[in-house]
Amino acid sequence: MSLVTLDGVLKEATEKRYAVGSFNVANYDMAEAVLNSAEKTGTPVIISIAEVHLRYLNIDDFVEYLLLRIERSPLPIVLHFDHGMSFESCSLAVSKGFSSVMIDASMLPYEQNVEITGRVAEYAHRFGVSVEGELGHVGGGEGDLREGSEVNREAFTDPSMAVEFVSKTQLDALAIAVGTVHGPYRGTPELDFDRIARIRSLLKTPLVLHGGSGLSDRDFQTAIEKGISKVNFYTQTSLEAVREVKMLLDSGEPVSYPDLTRLAVRKMEEAIVRQIGVFGTKSCR
Ligand SMILES: [Zn+2]
Repeated sequence: MSLVTLDGVLKEATEKRYAVGSFNVANYDMAEAVLNSAEKTGTPVIISIAEVHLRYLNIDDFVEYLLLRIERSPLPIVLHFDHGMSFESCSLAVSKGFSSVMIDASMLPYEQNVEITGRVAEYAHRFGVSVEGELGHVGGGEGDLREGSEVNREAFTDPSMAVEFVSKTQLDALAIAVGTVHGPYRGTPELDFDRIARIRSLLKTPLVLHGGSGLSDRDFQTAIEKGISKVNFYTQTSLEAVREVKMLLDSGEPVSYPDLTRLAVRKMEEAIVRQIGVFGTKSCR
């Protein structure tokens, strides 16, 4: 197996009603945590790098390392560019070796979203790279931990527009807005499960849930039963690692830097393995 496109992991997930986690990584430790978790569980995984996180990385070196690691893995793994903000950044990701890109033009008016998403899909498909787009808008900033975001029901995805959007853009996976936000929640999340089911009944394209951190296990499982097959997960993994590191530092014991990062990786692995279980991702073994 090794490097695959979204289709390589989501086709079966969509048919059999389970989800594959898309875990964001912004450094080598996070990437190791995701890869180790996939190896432990024997499941496919999507490794995502968000455009806003490129500031933490030398993308050439990082992608080279990831592709080597993925090459050695017996599992199907997607290397996904998350929340690409322009045609240019998505085409750059294609040229760097990503097997999948997301173009997020969901903030733009509908016609512009169609135009730019369609253009990215047309380009990426020429290189065998899959494309995710977003219709409706999932609020909150990707990786923004400062304050909770509120859900805006007016930005929820319209089911019949979703059908038209997919047919016009020819994308491979569709992120929908059904009540989640990026980063921490303000209040309790209330997902519109009926909307997921309605969109699923109209479309064969895999549906993606962004802003999943903070949802209960039951919420995830119901969303997946109703038709979600890719779940983006980041904030909680990061928060859990930081909480453990802080506890270690607060203990007053002398701590070495490698002990600190090893603890963080272990905690991230626990969070990711747990989440893979919640998503019901099918093992390849
Ligand atoms: Zn997202």
